[in-house]
Amino acid sequence: MKVNIIGAGVSGLCTGCYLQMNGFETEIFEKHSIPGGLCTSWDIGEYRFDGCAHWILGSDTGSSFYKMWSEILDMKKIKWHNHEMRIAVDLKEHKNKYGESILYFYTDVEKFENYLIDLSPEDAKMIKKMTASIRLMQQYDLPPVLDDLPFIQSTIRGIKMAKYFKFLWMLIKWRNITNFAFAEKLKNPFLREGFRNLFDDQEVNMIVFTMPMASFDKKSAGYPVGGSLEFARKIEERYLSLGGKIHYKTPVKKIITENGKAKSLLVRNNVVHEADITISCADWKWTIEEALESKFKNKKIDELLNLERLRVFYSVLQFSFGINKELKEHPHFSRFPIDTPIESPDGTIYNRLEVHIYSYDPTLAPQGKTSVVSSFYTDKADYWIELRKNNRPAYREAKKKMLDRMVEELDKRFGNIKEHIEVMDFATPATYLRYTNNWKGSTQGWLPGENLVTLTPIKFTLPNIENLYMASHWNQPGGGLPIAINVARDVTKLICKKTGKKFQTIKP
Ligand SMILES: Cc1cc2nc3c(=O)[nH]c(=O)nc-3n(C[C@H](O)[C@H](O)[C@H](O)COP(=O)(O)OP(=O)(O)OC[C@H]3O[C@@H](n4cnc5c(N)ncnc54)[C@H](O)[C@@H]3O)c2cc1C
Repeated sequence: MKVNIIGAGVSGLCTGCYLQMNGFETEIFEKHSIPGGLCTSWDIGEYRFDGCAHWILGSDTGSSFYKMWSEILDMKKIKWHNHEMRIAVDLKEHKNKYGESILYFYTDVEKFENYLIDLSPEDAKMIKKMTASIRLMQQYDLPPVLDDLPFIQSTIRGIKMAKYFKFLWMLIKWRNITNFAFAEKLKNPFLREGFRNLFDDQEVNMIVFTMPMASFDKKSAGYPVGGSLEFARKIEERYLSLGGKIHYKTPVKKIITENGKAKSLLVRNNVVHEADITISCADWKWTIEEALESKFKNKKIDELLNLERLRVFYSVLQFSFGINKELKEHPHFSRFPIDTPIESPDGTIYNRLEVHIYSYDPTLAPQGKTSVVSSFYTDKADYWIELRKNNRPAYREAKKKMLDRMVEELDKRFGNIKEHIEVMDFATPATYLRYTNNWKGSTQGWLPGENLVTLTPIKFTLPNIENLYMASHWNQPGGGLPIAINVARDVTKLICKKTGKKFQTIKP
């Protein structure tokens, strides 16, 4: 059976791998010249800048996602870097009892707990409650790889799953506790300010912090040395080794349908590629509105398109600098206040900067030099996209102004940086849209609901059309690379079921 896949992002590549493992003949059509989609990095001069994976859930056995990644990749062959600290947050108002203004969020739970209790013994009870929730998550790591089992086995599994009630109870207890609410419960003003600033002045559910911490502590949320594009290339390599075929620089224009069935893809130069099954691993909105010309929708889909049910995940403004200087003495990831706020032309005022110093990945810059990235998440994607579309000189000017301000601030913070900057680059939501087609330059598809328990309203299929599937980070609010592989696996299982095949995986 022949399957056409749109997009060679991580979802498309993994879908291709799983389908090849199950005896389907697949071809991927990708508009860019390289694999990876959002999972990418780019070279300027001697420097490589990473545009994605700060951490990948399941990098080691401490998370059940490891099992899934291991179906596609030889995980032991990938070099992972595990950070000792997640972020160093520089506070504005308070200092700790040692006169320091930085709160370190260590990834080792015990170290973090002892550090916080040392700073504030009076908050030991609350601190221990938080670390206990992290430890509980570690015990009850939910296995995402659950195959359909016959009745007796599934009953046995159900009994085994009963132990997860404690875990679910913990999730229920913490579901409304945001970092602001947690901070309010702390007596120590330094810690209070620190936890309020955990997400740069934003109120976010604490589970967004504690859940990854459970994996960081187990060294199973590492960064792939070599960067995101190298990681994507490894999946591409596996796909090709399984017999898959990729057409790069081949944008898909339309999904051609006939009598309620997807028949073929219309690509560049009006070439038509037929297939029994079509899967779009590209942007969700583009697939529905452009590729399928809005012919296969229902009320729920319209509500999603009108943003009535979910919001689109933030896009990003990413500033990248190649600096002819070692910066090893600085934390790899920090957030700090700035004296003069940076005013974005989109109207946002930034009072703090976040900076990633990639000294820990020697492949990103020659010895003695450093690749540095500073970024802001933004919900003002439309501003940048429209500006680039309607007024290119104004777009360039706006980019230059912001980049200049960033240089000034980095120079102040890290001392004498300006004259060491060899290359720099600024990617806006318009850049993400241009390269990957993601609606509003979204970095992770849909934003999860406020309390995180948004069951996905997105389906693999669309109404009134057969032989067509959609599988990408848009299928599960929150997105991310583990979701990309998860949906790839699930859509393959669904297709296997529909075509009477028993789903199987083949280890690399
Ligand atoms: C700055 C940033 C940081 C991130 N950090 C992390 C992180 O630390 N950990 C993590 O797990 N995730 C992270 N993510 C999220 C992660 O990168 C994405 O969720 C994931 O890569 C999405 O994969 P995908 O294949 O579903 O979609 P995409 O990567 O968007 O792939 C879609 C592909 O389809 C192609 N395409 C689109 N339209 C067409 C067309 N018409 N014809 C042909 N091809 C087409 C695109 O070119 C693209 O290659 C980050 C993302 C960003 C941007």
